[in-house]
Amino acid sequence: MQKTLYRDLALVDAARRALSPGHSILVDDGRISWVRPRDSEEEPGGEFELVDAGGTTAIAGMVDAHSHLTLPGGSHWLDRVLDDTESLWRVAEHNATLLRQAGVRWARDVGAPVREGRAVSLAIRDSWQGRPGYPHIRAAGTWLTSKGTMPDGYAVGVADGDELVRAAEGQLDQGADLIKLYMDGPDRETAPFNTSEVTKLVAAVAARGAKVTAHSGNLAGAKVAATAGVAAIEHGFQLDAEVVGLMVANGVRLVSTLAVLESWRGFATTTDQSRFSAPEGRGAVASRREWAHYSVRIAHQAGVPIAAGTDFGGGSLRANQLAWEVECLVAAGLDPFDAIRAVTANGGDLLGEPDAGHLREGGPADFLLVHGDPLTDPAAMWRVWRVSW
Ligand SMILES: [Zn+2]
Repeated sequence: MQKTLYRDLALVDAARRALSPGHSILVDDGRISWVRPRDSEEEPGGEFELVDAGGTTAIAGMVDAHSHLTLPGGSHWLDRVLDDTESLWRVAEHNATLLRQAGVRWARDVGAPVREGRAVSLAIRDSWQGRPGYPHIRAAGTWLTSKGTMPDGYAVGVADGDELVRAAEGQLDQGADLIKLYMDGPDRETAPFNTSEVTKLVAAVAARGAKVTAHSGNLAGAKVAATAGVAAIEHGFQLDAEVVGLMVANGVRLVSTLAVLESWRGFATTTDQSRFSAPEGRGAVASRREWAHYSVRIAHQAGVPIAAGTDFGGGSLRANQLAWEVECLVAAGLDPFDAIRAVTANGGDLLGEPDAGHLREGGPADFLLVHGDPLTDPAAMWRVWRVSW
């Protein structure tokens, strides 16, 4: 039986930024045939499964715009990067299951360990392609950094701007969909690459039809990345009005990962790792969190498009926690409608995938039903009732 009729759900009406209850959706062979008011359904024709969706809200399949497929997260997330190849694959398989259960249809992998000369994420993306129930993947290959910024085994470290361009071309040759540039270090006040180097990188990667996205936890790196016009700043934990102005002028998006800092707050009591549990550690996390919330708020107010990710695996979260980021964006000052947009349509825009993060007639049947009203109660995003794929 190929057809499924979902009856009596609420839709998010984008024009009114409000829920519109009493709708039905017919899915036929993985596509949305129609979306209609419940009392004017069309005859599905032939056999179909009826799903009584009363009390749920339909949300477009989510886009986790910042993820690390091969890694499990947790308070020792950095150690897990060095796990053997078999473990990385096993973790990725588990993550695929977690993503589906949480209603995440697309994941953008922004950095994976290299094994046998190639980022593992690229082979995983290829092996999942077209497999029912698996997420759609776009992957950046591995991290590109300035030599010495990360310990051995974590990333490709380069000595200068020319090497950086060659390293990016190498990732693209191996099949990377985008390039991940690491813009933290060597210290908090200095960026690892200058504006001219990053501008050249952006141009060289654009000539190959791809984009550069920049990890930035510190203000110095964010300023260089925004000036050079990267596609997006990842994390953006330290932005200011000047950097936000540059982002608007140069069309740079923000990919928020605020929930990472909430998870670190929890580690203050669930671990005895002094980075989180000692008074200085707690203080550092608290002030980082405060600046990160401010950054998201001023970027949103200035009109910077915000996509959102968990940073699962490459940070401490797990693959089924994108709802947490919705809650964090609301805590930072976004309206729930805009927070949900960050994990759906804005993620699709970032990927350049017109179907990703949208629920519409004729489109793929990629939606989830959540129990409750996420526009007044963003925690409803955790209460996934069913996914349609
Ligand atoms: Zn990350």
